[in-house]
Amino acid sequence: MNDLFGPRPCASILFPLPLPEAFDYAVPEGMALQPGDHVLAPLGGRHVHGVVWALKEEADGERKLKPVEEVIGGPRLAEGTRRFVDWSAGYLVEPPGVILRQVLRSSSALKPSPVETVYRLGQTRPDRLTPAREAVIAAAGRKPMSAADLARAAGVSGSVVKGLADLGVLVVEEREVDPPFEAPDPYREGVELNEIQRQAAAILRRLVAAGGFQAALIDGVTGSGKTEVYFEAVAELLRREPQAQILVLLPEIALTQSVMDRFEARFGARPALWHSDIGQKERRRVWREVATGRARIVAGARSALFLPFTGLRAIIVDEEHDPTFKQDEGLTYHARDLAVARGKLEGALVVLASATPSLESLVNAEAGRYVHIRLPGRAGLAELPEIATLDLREFPPERGNWLSEPLVREMAEVFARGEQTLLYLNRRGFAPLVLCRACGHKMKSPDTERWLVEHRYTGRLVCHTTGFSMPKPRACPECGAEDSLTGVGPGVERVAEEARTRFPDAVVEVFSSDTAQGPDAVRDLVQRMERGEIDILVGTQIAAKGHNFPRLTLVGVVDADLGLAGGDLRAGERTYQMLVQAAGRAGRADRPGKAILQTHQPEHEALQALVAGDRAAFLDAERMMREHLRLPPYGRLAALVLSGPDPERLEETARGIAAAAPLAEGVEVFGPADAPLAVIRGRWRKRFLVQADRKVDVSAYMRAWMARVKIPAAIRASVDIEPYSF
Ligand code: ADP
Repeated sequence: MNDLFGPRPCASILFPLPLPEAFDYAVPEGMALQPGDHVLAPLGGRHVHGVVWALKEEADGERKLKPVEEVIGGPRLAEGTRRFVDWSAGYLVEPPGVILRQVLRSSSALKPSPVETVYRLGQTRPDRLTPAREAVIAAAGRKPMSAADLARAAGVSGSVVKGLADLGVLVVEEREVDPPFEAPDPYREGVELNEIQRQAAAILRRLVAAGGFQAALIDGVTGSGKTEVYFEAVAELLRREPQAQILVLLPEIALTQSVMDRFEARFGARPALWHSDIGQKERRRVWREVATGRARIVAGARSALFLPFTGLRAIIVDEEHDPTFKQDEGLTYHARDLAVARGKLEGALVVLASATPSLESLVNAEAGRYVHIRLPGRAGLAELPEIATLDLREFPPERGNWLSEPLVREMAEVFARGEQTLLYLNRRGFAPLVLCRACGHKMKSPDTERWLVEHRYTGRLVCHTTGFSMPKPRACPECGAEDSLTGVGPGVERVAEEARTRFPDAVVEVFSSDTAQGPDAVRDLVQRMERGEIDILVGTQIAAKGHNFPRLTLVGVVDADLGLAGGDLRAGERTYQMLVQAAGRAGRADRPGKAILQTHQPEHEALQALVAGDRAAFLDAERMMREHLRLPPYGRLAALVLSGPDPERLEETARGIAAAAPLAEGVEVFGPADAPLAVIRGRWRKRFLVQADRKVDVSAYMRAWMARVKIPAAIRASVDIEPYSF
C-alpha cells in the first residue's frame, strides 16, 4: 500500500502541552493506528506521549514528516472525549493540548492494571491440622490474600502459608491489584415516591427512553427528594443500557461521602469517586476504569468532567447553582456550562438539580431549552423552616460577642429539648483581620496584600487566597509593641468560643475546611451530628450544603449581610442561595425548624424575599438588574487577565493589547484595569472585561483578538469566559 508514489498515511498527533494545534507525523509501514490511540512521537528532540487526533492521507513527497515512533497502548480515547476536548478548547479560548492535559491527568493509567499473586482456599484439606494451619485456613476462607497478608491475618509465619500452598490446600491465583468497581444494581427498590415525586421521575424516565441529548432542571426545595428522583433516572438508564456511564458532579468534596453512601444504599455499589484529594493509586484506577468503560457511575468534583468516558449517557449536576462549580484559577471554566456542552456532544441526558437554581438555568428552563421539573414541598412530614430576620441595630450583641440575645434564647430552648443548632458564618478561622492596638498596623499577606486571617487553633496567620501562613508574632512588626496584635471581627472559631462560653454544657464543634480536612474527618463530623453527639455546630458553607441532620432544628446565620455587597455580579443571588441552603438544614425530619438571620439591613430585598418565602420576588428584582446592565444571562462576559513580574512592562503590553481589540457589533471592551487581585506572589495583574450582547459568540471574539496580539514571554495571558467577579 505504501508504495513510493501513492498517497502516504499520516497522523495528526495532539500533545498534552500548550501548543497551538496538533502536528502531523508519518505513519510507518505496518503500524495500524486509530484516532484516540496513544503514541510516542518526536517533539523538540524528545519522545513525547501524544494522542492520534486524526488520520489522513498525504501525497508522497509533499512534506517531509517525521514518523510516529511507537504505539503505547492503553485505552483509546473515545470520540466523544476527543470532540469535547476540541469544543472546550474553542469555547475556553485555550490550546487543545491544555484541555488534553486535563483529560490525561493520570497517564500512568495507560499501563495495564498491575497484577498480584493471591492465595485462595481450595477444595483439599490437610491430613494434619495444627492451630497455625487452622488460623490460615480461616483467614483464607474470608477472602483471597497475598502470602504476606495471609500470614499477618493468621498471626503465623510465611512458611505455614507456603506449606499449605504446597499441599494444594491453598490455590494460587493472579488478580488485578486495582479491582474493578462493583456494578450497580438498578433493580433494587428505592423509597416509595410521593405523587409529585412520581410525576417528576416519570418525566425523567421519558427523557431517558427518548435517548440523546436533553437537559432538565429539577427545581425543588431542600429536602423535596431531588436525589431520590434523579436516582430513578439513573436506574431507568441502567436497566435499558447496562453499559451506560453516568457522571454525578458534586460541588463539595465534603458532600461526596453522604452521596456515595446513598448511592450504595440505593444501587448496592459505591460509585467511583474522583476529586483532587484522592491518592495517585486510586486516581489511576478510576481513570482506567472510566476509560475502559467499566466504571458505571462516577461521582466527582468539577474536574471529573474531563474524564475519558466511553459511553457517557447522563450527567447530573447536583446543587447546580453552586459557585464552586466555577473554577477560576488555572484553566478557568464553569462545570455546569461544560456539563451541558458535553451532554450535547455525547448525546447524553443532563440533569441539573437545585433548591435555588441559578438565574441562568431558570431562564433556560423558561425559554424551553431545559425541561422544568418542580418539587414544591418537602417529602414526608418535614416542613420548610420558618425564617425570620433579627435586626442587630435593635438587639446589638454585647461588645466582643457576635450572637444577639434573642438568638441565644432560641438556642437555649433548642438545647434544652435535646435538639441541635447550626451557627452559620462563611468565614474560616478566628478573626478576618489582625490589627495592632498600638499603631493600627494591619497584618497583610506578602503575596497578595490581602489581610491575613487569624487561626487560633493553629496559632497562625493565613492568607486565604494563596495559603501563605506564618506564626502569629508576639510583637507588632511595624512598631514593635509587645502583645498588641488583636484579631478583629468574627470567624467560625471565635463564634464557637462564644457558644462554648454561653453553653458550657453543650458540645460545640467547628465545621470548616480547616477542621474537616479530608473525607474521613468530614464523615466523622457528619456522623456525630447525625447521632446527636454535637449540640452546636459552627460552620462555613461546607456545613450548610446538602447534609441531612434530623435533629437540627435551628439555624442561626451570624452575619446575613456578608456577601450582599462586593464586586461580584452574583453577590445578591449568591447570598440568597447560601441563606436558603443554610436555612434548609433546619427541620429536615419530623421536627419543625427555624432559621434566624442576624442582619443590619433587614429591609434588603434578598432578605425580605427569604423571610416571605417569595423566591419569585427576589428573582424578578435580580432579573431586572441583570437585564438592565446587560449581564448574564442577558448578555455575555469574558475577561482577559494579564500578569507579569514587572508592572511597567505589563502596563505597556496591556496598552498594546487594548489597541488590538477588534471592533465588533454588540461588543464593548473595558480596561485594562487592575484585576480584582492586583498582585499575587510578586506578579502584577491587569484585566480587560468584555461585555457583549447575548447573541455574540464571545469565545470567537476572544480568539480573534488573541490571534492579533503577540504576548512577551514574561507575561501570561488567560481568558476567562463568563468570569464571576465584575
Ligand atoms: P433533596 O435532594 O431535594 O434535598 P433528598 O432526596 O435528599 O432531597 O430527600 C430528603 C430526605 O427525604 C432524604 O432523607 C430522603 O431519603 C427522604 N425522602 C425523600 N423522598 C422520600 C419519600 N418519598 N419517602 C420517604 N423518604 C423520602
